[in-house]
Amino acid sequence: MTGTIVVVGGGASGLMAAGVAAAYGANVVLLEKTKRLGAKIRIFGKGRCNITNTVDLPEFIKNYPENGRFLYSALTRFSNWDTINFFNELGVETKIERGQRVFPVSDDADQVANALVRHARNNGAKIFSQKAVRKLILSDDGRIAGVETTDNEFFDADAVILATGGASYPGTGSTGDGFLLAKQVGHTIQKPFPSLVPLRVKESWVKSVAGVSLRNVEITIDNGKESDRAFGEMLFTHFGVSGPIVLTLSRKVAKWLENKESKVELTIDLKPALSFEILERRVQRDFNKYIRKQLKNSLDDLLPKSLIPIVIIESGIEPEKYVNQVTKAERRQLVNTLKALRLTIVDTLGIPAAIVTAGGVNLTEIDPRTMRSKLIENLYFAGEVIDIDGFTGGFNLQAAFSTGYLAGISATNHGERRD
Ligand SMILES: Cc1cc2nc3c(=O)[nH]c(=O)nc-3n(C[C@H](O)[C@H](O)[C@H](O)COP(=O)(O)OP(=O)(O)OC[C@H]3O[C@@H](n4cnc5c(N)ncnc54)[C@H](O)[C@@H]3O)c2cc1C
Repeated sequence: MTGTIVVVGGGASGLMAAGVAAAYGANVVLLEKTKRLGAKIRIFGKGRCNITNTVDLPEFIKNYPENGRFLYSALTRFSNWDTINFFNELGVETKIERGQRVFPVSDDADQVANALVRHARNNGAKIFSQKAVRKLILSDDGRIAGVETTDNEFFDADAVILATGGASYPGTGSTGDGFLLAKQVGHTIQKPFPSLVPLRVKESWVKSVAGVSLRNVEITIDNGKESDRAFGEMLFTHFGVSGPIVLTLSRKVAKWLENKESKVELTIDLKPALSFEILERRVQRDFNKYIRKQLKNSLDDLLPKSLIPIVIIESGIEPEKYVNQVTKAERRQLVNTLKALRLTIVDTLGIPAAIVTAGGVNLTEIDPRTMRSKLIENLYFAGEVIDIDGFTGGFNLQAAFSTGYLAGISATNHGERRD
């Protein structure tokens, strides 16, 4: 391979693509807009970094809500176990946790980003930071001749890998540039929308429980025509709800809101393990235990303290009432609320606050076996810029690594064919 591969973007997918292409002998130039390579990896929650997941391939594919099958080749060429071996060989020891999620033993996201940078550099990729690509330059034959940066520099390219990420967490450099660059050269962009994103609700009472996290609850989202549910942990915030199960369902909510569904509700079953009847008996037992107390002081065994006034108000019962004055109808109303605490969703927090951007370069325009554009002979795509998004659990990084690997290898072979 004598030509130059220009990789645009120094995130998870771009660093992987650059390192692999360089390892296979290509002359690689990586251009990164910001000062910091792998900035998004470095900001991961608690500094941890869920690099992949050990579920098998069919299960893996199911974790990309709409377009998982597109990743079949990429995940076969560079699998979750390849990711684990890759990092282990670079000195990043890994461990498997709940949900088969894989983390570095160090719990240090910087270690993962540094390993990717080291891999690319040690294989000979030339890395330039603070170089933002603003244009892909097409030659007369419809191929890409090179890229132009915002400081008017031109880089010759025999092949270009677009690895600019989505538009989430723009502070990390991913501001949707890749969508514009791809569009400029004729690609269609599936409208970007937020996924894995916190939700805003109408009810102002959430402010009073901001920070309260609930485990083992079941939430149901519903738009009157369709519903979905998830069991696990959620969190109240000052504007609404977040936490793992909310993030999981948020993609669907974002789509419903985008489609202007008139009413999107989220219902929390605070006691999903108990049927209505069993929960009613349980409440009755607590009432017997706290018979001389006011209702507001009788639910401590059942609920987090700050949630008690909310549940009572939502049930329409006077909180000052003594337990022995609560009627059967009121008790049943209380149980109803415990089984279905309702919230009205008004919005998501938007793409900037989303863990991942759904939408992106149209999959029908990319060859899944190579990541090569079907429109431009020497253009390749990797990572979140593609219309692929996964659930939490390490699936987004694995998609970035697998597509980055495949784009890197394919672009290298592309050069060899031309030689
Ligand atoms: C808070 C948070 C936590 C996350 N945690 C996890 C997790 O634990 N596990 C998981 O699997 N996924 C996680 N994700 C998702 C995951 O980080 C992304 O899906 C993944 O980083 C996408 O990789 P990428 O290479 O496509 O894009 P990015 O990592 O976003 O990299 C794109 C790069 O391109 C650069 N760039 C953009 N435009 C230009 C341009 N014009 N010129 C040059 N360079 C440009 C950007 O500066 C950026 O460095 C998390 C995301 C966030 C926001």
